[in-house]
Amino acid sequence: MSSPIQAGPRVAGHRGYVGRFAPSPSGPLHAGSLAAALASYLDARAHEGLWLLRIEDIDEPRTVPGADRVIMRQLQALGMRWDEEPVWQTRRHALYEQAFGRLQAAGRVYACRCTRRELPPGPYPGTCRPGPGAPRNAPPARAARDEAHVSQPSRADARRPASSRRALPAWRFLVEPGTEVFQDRWLGEQSQDVAREAGDFIIRRADGLWAYQLAVVVDDGLQGVTDVVRGADLLDSTARQRQLARALDLPCPRTLHVPLVLDAQGRKLSKQNHAPALDLNQPLEALQRAWGALGFTRLPAAATDDFWPLATAQWARRFP
Ligand code: GLU
Repeated sequence: MSSPIQAGPRVAGHRGYVGRFAPSPSGPLHAGSLAAALASYLDARAHEGLWLLRIEDIDEPRTVPGADRVIMRQLQALGMRWDEEPVWQTRRHALYEQAFGRLQAAGRVYACRCTRRELPPGPYPGTCRPGPGAPRNAPPARAARDEAHVSQPSRADARRPASSRRALPAWRFLVEPGTEVFQDRWLGEQSQDVAREAGDFIIRRADGLWAYQLAVVVDDGLQGVTDVVRGADLLDSTARQRQLARALDLPCPRTLHVPLVLDAQGRKLSKQNHAPALDLNQPLEALQRAWGALGFTRLPAAATDDFWPLATAQWARRFP
């Protein structure tokens, strides 16, 4: 097994708590992403911890040039200060490569040339799992797992007509059988059978890009993140991320998933749904609204400087 991937240096004095906000720069912050930013910031401040900013620009086709700077200006205008130099995922390819190499060496990844059209909806059925008679949508036998070395084309691949084979494969993580159980600090006990509900999932895409799942686990692990606070749309990824972290000998951070902010039609506010950007002429109002979206009542604050200590104290009582 290769040596563990190394974490970077860390400033002292954070009482063992390291949190982060990890926006994808596909547009400016809107009311939904602000609620997630606010929750992660308050949780870090309430625990006298560090708050890191990580720009998740790994999905380059979705990146909007300049959106990272806009997000940073928005956070600053609202009074949120990050405690270390921000990191950009596009500058961290070597770390993801190293992690991928470890998973390969451990026989935990395999190449998959299934196209989206070939796959049924739902969990990946295990079509390209290596090994003789690889079971469909079921945990692999020990022997099959040991044979799961990436350089071997799968039987499914050999059977597929050349015309439907892709030039480059995607790479899937071979998941463990069994139910993953964890405590979410907002939602309580959660469980997911990753093999049955998600199946072996992609960690390197066929276009060569690293998948969100791999990048986020490597970054949280190497940045020493102890607490992930984010929107509930990512709850479903948590069990997969825990499996990946274990396979990489990285600790699993605690999680707190906050409710999503919905629009008038009950849809998640998102850049895809054209959520309006925040009005930074009224920063206090933007904060009060995000605070309200998290279920708290309006604070008696006349300016953003008054808002922060009041909100932090309330948050600390609710999420000690
Ligand atoms: N980059 C992701 C997003 O903006 C968040 C990732 C995370 O918090 O784990 O939705």
